[in-house]
Amino acid sequence: TKVLLTGGSGFIAAHILDQLLNASHTVITTVRSQSKASAITSAYPSQSSSGSLIVAIVPDIAQPGAFDTVIQEHGKDLEVVLHTASPFHFNFTDPKKELIDPALIGTTSILQAIAKWSPTVKRVVVTSSFAAIINEAHVSDPSTVFSENSWNPVTIDDIHKNPATAYRASKTLAEKAAWDFVEDPKNGAKFDLVTVNPPMVFGPVVHHLATLEAINTSNERIVHAIRGKWREGIPPTGQAYIWVDVRDVATAHVKAGLGEVDGVSGERLFVVSGWFSNSEIAAVLRKNFPEDKDNLPEEGVKGGELPAKGERFGYDNSETTKLLGIEWIGLEKCLVDTVRSLKKVEGSA
Ligand code: NDP
Repeated sequence: TKVLLTGGSGFIAAHILDQLLNASHTVITTVRSQSKASAITSAYPSQSSSGSLIVAIVPDIAQPGAFDTVIQEHGKDLEVVLHTASPFHFNFTDPKKELIDPALIGTTSILQAIAKWSPTVKRVVVTSSFAAIINEAHVSDPSTVFSENSWNPVTIDDIHKNPATAYRASKTLAEKAAWDFVEDPKNGAKFDLVTVNPPMVFGPVVHHLATLEAINTSNERIVHAIRGKWREGIPPTGQAYIWVDVRDVATAHVKAGLGEVDGVSGERLFVVSGWFSNSEIAAVLRKNFPEDKDNLPEEGVKGGELPAKGERFGYDNSETTKLLGIEWIGLEKCLVDTVRSLKKVEGSA
């Protein structure tokens, strides 16, 4: 099957790319620079030379019409589009320009281009987020149960509150725009839509990473932990408290996108493994990496605990687990594999 994957240089997308190529699909992936393109083609030399992997450059997804050229050039016989590219970081000064525009215009411009030039596309999977599900006002409320049906009520007026809220707005507005697009017959979409909504994603790094300084946002805390930043006190976990392994996130995109599971058309897939806390991460790392004990917080160092059950939200993703027929990777395996991959990056730097 011919698949287009946007943002192929990213942490999650690199796992999707790997799974697609291992299953012998033909993949066109987009990145924003020649150096990122070269890193991918050199990681897959045989697929690149046989033409089963093509890396295309889309320099700025925040431009209307950003994906027109790539879809015009590669849209023939294209069946599946997986749209993962979207900014996930907090080092911005202008949230509208740096987060909202690439998230929102990136999403609408790819959908418009497919509707216009690639009638063979049957399904589009958009990587959304728990950020589009959570309601910040209810994170400490045990009677709130977040599920596939929950929507973050955040609006564009909230983007100057704080960086986390701005990021959540970018994901919420982009996902809403995608559903609005396929629901409005005027847009002429011949494809259906599935979204994948992960909470905090941890897991091994397979994308090109020059140094650990360039680690993706969600794995950053693990780098901090193994580098000794948690020795004097473990930082707060944040508001989200739920996580999933990157390999399961990739599997969800592939299974849903390639039609390997039934009943996912028009669904939001809330891919969650379980609860986590920074305090639990520290304990798992201490147990599994005794050789790093000088960098890790000693047993008894406080901070980063999970709030008691009566002081945090509830969640229910049983619908997604059933649809995907998946057994979620557990936290200990995930962290062990993640740290091993980080050590490889460090060793080769
Ligand atoms: P990465 O930062 O590794 O990947 C983000 C991808 O988007 C990269 O390919 C990046 O390109 C691309 N991108 C970001 N901003 C722009 C831009 N302005 N123009 C063009 N491309 C851009 O993070 P993840 O792999 O974690 O994120 C992938 C997707 O998953 C995103 O949609 C994110 O919102 C979503 N997500 C991630 C979660 C997590 O915990 N990791 C949780 C929930 C959702 P480049 O390599 O050039 O920077």
